[in-house]
Amino acid sequence: MRILITNDDGINAPGLVVLEKIAAELAGPAGEVWVVAPAFEQSGVAHCINYTHPTMIAELGPRRFAAEGTPADCVLAGLFHVMKDAPPDLVLSGVNRGNNSGENVLYSGTVGAAMEAALHGVKAIALSQFMSPLNARRSDPYEAAAVHAPPLLRRLLSEGIWDEADYRLFYNVNFPGLPAADVKGTRVAAQGFRRYSAFSLEPHVSPTGRQFLWIKSGEQGRPTLPGTDVTANVEGYVSVTPLRCDLTAHERLDELRIAME
Ligand code: MN
Repeated sequence: MRILITNDDGINAPGLVVLEKIAAELAGPAGEVWVVAPAFEQSGVAHCINYTHPTMIAELGPRRFAAEGTPADCVLAGLFHVMKDAPPDLVLSGVNRGNNSGENVLYSGTVGAAMEAALHGVKAIALSQFMSPLNARRSDPYEAAAVHAPPLLRRLLSEGIWDEADYRLFYNVNFPGLPAADVKGTRVAAQGFRRYSAFSLEPHVSPTGRQFLWIKSGEQGRPTLPGTDVTANVEGYVSVTPLRCDLTAHERLDELRIAME
């Protein structure tokens, strides 16, 4: 298997080292792992692409590239430049520092990279590691992802649903903020919504008297509805969420047609 990996925490992020190991295990000795990752952190850029600026790309080593762009740019760079002669069978994005469950999905550059791959018909999985007091200060905060991702991804690739729709399915996987041995299992979960935990602002005045606004996130451990991702994660389970880029609320179309047509 030929695997393209990227992330949104940047080419030097510890989570990318974890993902390189996971991908190498999946690819096997006959496979290949290619890295095209952002030169600098791109957390929170979602599915953004550099549309009005060119993207500088540097070859750092064998099958290893840094691009001065977003995670989605990196996927485009991988598909149309670095791996253009033999495209990847799979794109993996992560392992993100922090969860991409709930509303975080909408802001996540990690998920944005997987979206871009899915739009090009390539199988894609985003991986994120929940940070909690139970793992964040340990020597290996990514242990849950490192240990549980290889068998889980193998199963997802063989038993999961991979359709050929225009807006095809891709996957969002979040590992709970626990040591690997304490992970209870896997839950297929919908994208949740953390109530009263949206992003907000904190104003600061700079030394030169300018007003700056810092975006800050809400409480991450607030559970979502049963059957959804954050709840699975805080209860100790890996969440697996099938996603699709089609944002249409299909279940309301008929009702709206009756009202509007
Ligand atoms: Mn990130």
